[in-house]
Amino acid sequence: MVKSTRHLGLIWTGRSWQTTRLLCREHGKKQLKGDLAFSLFLGWWGILDIIINIRVVSGQLAAVKKLSQLAPPDVVAVTEGSVASSPAVPDAEA
Ligand SMILES: [Zn+2]
Repeated sequence: MVKSTRHLGLIWTGRSWQTTRLLCREHGKKQLKGDLAFSLFLGWWGILDIIINIRVVSGQLAAVKKLSQLAPPDVVAVTEGSVASSPAVPDAEA
C-alpha cells in the first residue's frame, strides 16, 4: 500500500489530504511525486504550515525512497514465460 500526503498551506487555513491506495512501484512513485510537487508549491503559505509541510515533504521523500528500494517488477518471470513458449533462442549472428 502507498500512503501519500499532500498539504495545502494558506495564510488563513491549511489542509492536508492523505490517500492510501494499492499501487504498483511505478504508479506509487508517480502518486508520491505528484503530491510532493503539490506540497512543495502550495504547502508553505502559512506560519504553522511551514512546520507541517516540512514533515509532509520529508515523509513523502522517505516514501519515495522506500518504494524505490522495492524489488523491480518481476522481469525474470516474464522472461522465463517467453523462453518456455519458444525454447529455441535464435542466434542473431548465425
Ligand atoms: Zn501501476
